[in-house]
Amino acid sequence: MGVVIGVTLLGATGCGRLLGLGGGTASSAGASTPASARSARSGAAPSGAVPSVTVPASSAPVVAGTHPAPSGNATSEATAGKGSGASGLVLAGKVVGLDPGHNGGNFTHLAYIDHQIWNGREWEDCNTTGTSTDGGYTEALFNFRVASYLRADLLADGASVVMTRTSDSGVGPCVDERAAIINHAHANVGIAIHADGAAPGGRGFAILVPVADGPNDQVISSSLAFAGDVRTAMLTGTPMPVSNYDGVDGVQPRDDLAGLNLAQVPMALIEVGNMRNATDAALETSPTFQQEVAKALCAAIVAFLT
Ligand code: ZN
Repeated sequence: MGVVIGVTLLGATGCGRLLGLGGGTASSAGASTPASARSARSGAAPSGAVPSVTVPASSAPVVAGTHPAPSGNATSEATAGKGSGASGLVLAGKVVGLDPGHNGGNFTHLAYIDHQIWNGREWEDCNTTGTSTDGGYTEALFNFRVASYLRADLLADGASVVMTRTSDSGVGPCVDERAAIINHAHANVGIAIHADGAAPGGRGFAILVPVADGPNDQVISSSLAFAGDVRTAMLTGTPMPVSNYDGVDGVQPRDDLAGLNLAQVPMALIEVGNMRNATDAALETSPTFQQEVAKALCAAIVAFLT
């Protein structure tokens, strides 16, 4: 039943089994059994009113006009699987929040993005421009490219995906609003995608996790668990090493970021390498690496949610 459908669809796209996470394996022979088992669990959960793309009403201005049909197959598959465990898709019924940090238009709207918002503990800039490589490749674009690849992967695996921005030419939204978008969507998990701008000698990825502050109290342990899945998937599926300057074994608690302070769903922020480091920058500007990161993050999400 669902096994045949699921294997067919997942064979064409998706990420769940590519890295052998979440109990699955990378071997073709062993992949079908855990896939069908996870699909069955996933399909058993009521999906509620989950369209293929969830746009919370309160954030409609932010995401209006977005989510044009991505690669058609992914959309139709996700739609076909809506509310039906028979789809066999591993993430059917799951909602994932993606927050590609910064925005391409921020560079020309500094007065706006500099205005202060409350991040749950203190006042913080609405948004920032983000960093760039020495060659001028912006972090905002990198973040958006990875998020776009990741969105396609997640849709192909049956998830509903909520994006905090859906182009790289806009301004903002502010970081508190990004948190609200993901919270209001009742995402099962969320991830913010960034790259760092540190001293040139530092390299590698770090995963920033929330510190309990009231609003996020219920998602601290789950966010840490998700961070572990992200670390494993990044090390398995990409050539980027764990940071040699940020965090402990690639994980760093942070209490100064709205996206983590205000999170009411399991949430992590990944700094995918250091754009000021030549080795990391060479990876970050490569579409191949961007897609590898997306696959790794997708696999981490599958591991966490299934
Ligand atoms: Zn950033």
